[in-house]
Amino acid sequence: MASINTGIEWTDRTWNPTTGCNKISPGCTHCYAEAITKRFHTNFPHGFTLTEYPERLKEPLSWRKPSRIFVNSMSDLFHEDVTLDFLKQVFDVMGKTPHHIYQILTKRHERLVELASELNWHDNIWMGVSVENQNYVHRVDYLRKVDAKVRFLSCEPLLGPLQLDLTGIDWVIVGGESGVKHRPMDIEWVQSIRDQCQENEVAFFFKQWGGRTPKIGGRMLDGKIWDEMPKAWKQHQKKWNSHTLSVNQNSNKAGIATLVGR
Ligand code: SF4
Repeated sequence: MASINTGIEWTDRTWNPTTGCNKISPGCTHCYAEAITKRFHTNFPHGFTLTEYPERLKEPLSWRKPSRIFVNSMSDLFHEDVTLDFLKQVFDVMGKTPHHIYQILTKRHERLVELASELNWHDNIWMGVSVENQNYVHRVDYLRKVDAKVRFLSCEPLLGPLQLDLTGIDWVIVGGESGVKHRPMDIEWVQSIRDQCQENEVAFFFKQWGGRTPKIGGRMLDGKIWDEMPKAWKQHQKKWNSHTLSVNQNSNKAGIATLVGR
């Protein structure tokens, strides 16, 4: 499963230059990536062991349509077994494809900060940390130290109420857990995070209530869908949609000229 179009509401597709991981906090308990490696074991000969795939590095170079790309839906890019050299190659590819937005999410906040100064934070790289309950809000302090154009939080699965310092944070995603053993999410936890985002002018995205399946509970909160994206997303779309349009127009003109020339 190198790269796929995805059902994740806040992204367009995934890119997995690495797969595999190991559990480090309560948000990992029902890790969907591990479940997928078990279910489709022929696609994952190394199981859930961290594996680098150099042959996948070039994939985004051939994706022409400007997209939001979730980097490593099947792993954690800042896992201790991902080498710095490999990470640099991943960042290099992201820099060479400025028409895409790359969304990286980690629970390895310490390694993120340790290596951040060695990496090129191109403007199209959005960096996020997972925060599932109040015991992990310190990940946000680490994230603040990273020089990414957009910094975001994924509070999914949300396992308790959160009091957040949103200084320097552009975007917060909230979602409930799904699966047979899903842990319930309280509406007041979600409303509180939404209100904190509004008070701090931070974009708020409510992904799902969760339940036995991801979509079963829907994603309405107080009568509406919360689909907010960071300001940088609109700017990116404006730039690259007009770029794509002018490239298409020029190639059309070239096509007409060729026909006339005949
Ligand atoms: S960090 Fe992410 S990929 Fe790794 S075990 Fe936890 S939930 Fe799964």
